[in-house]
Amino acid sequence: MYLSPLHLLTALFACSTALAQTAADPRPDPRFDPTTGQSTQVWRKPMPIDYTHATIEIDIPDVTIPVLTGLTTLRGDVTGLPISRIVLDASGPQPLEPLAASVNGLPVTWKTAAGKLTLNLSDMLPPRSPVVIAIKYNLAYDKNEGEGLTFKAGDPEAELESRRSPFIHAQGQAELNSRWFPLFDSPADRITSEVITTVDSGYQVLSNGRLLSTTPATPGSTQQPRTRWHWALDNEHAPYLVTLAIGKFAIVELGGDSTARPGISMPLYAPQGLEDQAAAMYAKTPDIMAFLENYFDEPYPWPLYAQALTPGFVWGGMENTGATLLTMRSLRGEPGAADELIVHEMAHQWIGNLVTCRHWDHLWLNEGWATFMESLWVQHTQGEDAYRASIADTLRSMITRDALTAPQTPAIVSKRYSNPDDTFEKKDNPYGKGSLVLHMLREQLGREAFDNATRKYLKANRNRAVETDDFRFALEAATGQSLERFFEQWLLRPGIPRLQLEQSFDAGSNLLTLKATQTQLIDRFNPAYALSIPVIATFADGSTRTLTINTTTREFSQVIALSQRPTTLQVDPNLTLMASLRPRLFDLTTGGTSLGEVEVEEPTETLAPTN
Ligand SMILES: [Zn+2]
Repeated sequence: MYLSPLHLLTALFACSTALAQTAADPRPDPRFDPTTGQSTQVWRKPMPIDYTHATIEIDIPDVTIPVLTGLTTLRGDVTGLPISRIVLDASGPQPLEPLAASVNGLPVTWKTAAGKLTLNLSDMLPPRSPVVIAIKYNLAYDKNEGEGLTFKAGDPEAELESRRSPFIHAQGQAELNSRWFPLFDSPADRITSEVITTVDSGYQVLSNGRLLSTTPATPGSTQQPRTRWHWALDNEHAPYLVTLAIGKFAIVELGGDSTARPGISMPLYAPQGLEDQAAAMYAKTPDIMAFLENYFDEPYPWPLYAQALTPGFVWGGMENTGATLLTMRSLRGEPGAADELIVHEMAHQWIGNLVTCRHWDHLWLNEGWATFMESLWVQHTQGEDAYRASIADTLRSMITRDALTAPQTPAIVSKRYSNPDDTFEKKDNPYGKGSLVLHMLREQLGREAFDNATRKYLKANRNRAVETDDFRFALEAATGQSLERFFEQWLLRPGIPRLQLEQSFDAGSNLLTLKATQTQLIDRFNPAYALSIPVIATFADGSTRTLTINTTTREFSQVIALSQRPTTLQVDPNLTLMASLRPRLFDLTTGGTSLGEVEVEEPTETLAPTN
């Protein structure tokens, strides 16, 4: 998912609120609720049934009224233990109260509470027995937006005919699809899916997979002719990726034999009248698919790649399997302005959809990768300097975003959150920090070794849910390195290292002393980082020498014998470390220092260590 600029502003505001609370109570410990003593960690749901398929039938009698009738059929197999009841997520806009429910063809009783629908079985179902659940229900949405399905009303004053008509779309991530159909909503599960939608004729309907058929349907409440749209995805994906978009779309085919990626259909859905503008903004889609296939060494995994510019969609983009929904704001600017958004959402079709984080504490495996692929696209199209500028952008944002509050904020990989949606906006951010973790690994292990290990990881885990250690194991197996310390210090603890660097050169002995002081909070939860900081010494004759500060302590100094006085010392000029390094350039001729492209104001908040 791509958060919108508006949403990031909200996130920043939320962060500043959290800081104010921290200042009032300097040592809150969010690992537990101080009133009850209860742990605040969120644990993955048990999976008593391995679901394999969902058929979601939706009948919308009038597209202008947010009311629907649904029939959902879930298929699966009981896993390791016998079961006497089945618990589904069914939060709905209000408790999803079935009209009828059956299991294996037999009617069952049910109970609804706290967003769950519990079906009571008359007989125990033994392990590995097949299960077919059918639930019929009505839903009426009090609000039009943000409750599983968004019903965006048409604007009668709009100039474009398509804007005068309504649009409807779904948003399933993180765990929101149960607001329009009952399901076992976990990224650990994988299902094939069908979405069958009946609406007034004249609207386009988009969902995952292939469009199997459109057939005439009986008129609804408006007595208008209606159409039944049957979409199906034969490949398994996580249930949060099931989607639906309905509206007066024009469809432009961006794929084709003359493009960089022949053989895959890439329909672009845009509100009627905006299709030419949209086609210009999304013209790079085939080039981006060719780039991603080449990088991942894995063919695009789904039947087609639709992108839908959807009025009423509040996020930047959502990578529903084979059917990405996108903000209308992506039409702003010159062609090319949306390329990184296209890359981000399409990269998720491999990293996120083909290989899915098992639980939301491992979200960085989805979002860090999608964000990193934006930078690799910049490298591919604009070269090394532009790539470094892209990494510098992300680094600046992490230096300011990730304030000095560790261990008060949950680490990027952490079960400490109150709602799955919160994990997308953490200060220890799965997007920016996740991307920089991947950048660091690639620079430290070597680009070719990292890229090859990534390809093996994808092949080994395709159609699976993964955790952070699955990625670590893949990198370790491919490179022979031990990455336990790397993953522990960059992913399992919050914050980033902040170092003050000093140098002194003795002209008589030609000895250079480099001193590094880690200024971030260091305490029993947060020992000093182990860092290898490259320093490039440049001499008057233009020659250079790479020096390395290897530090594992709060303060560290190193004396290095040189043949002559350097003119400059550049500290980590290739940005191989996710760290605030001050300064990044010593000019020994003038005595000046600078931060170069990573110039950014440091946060000033600090906390006393816990001994
Ligand atoms: Zn994303």
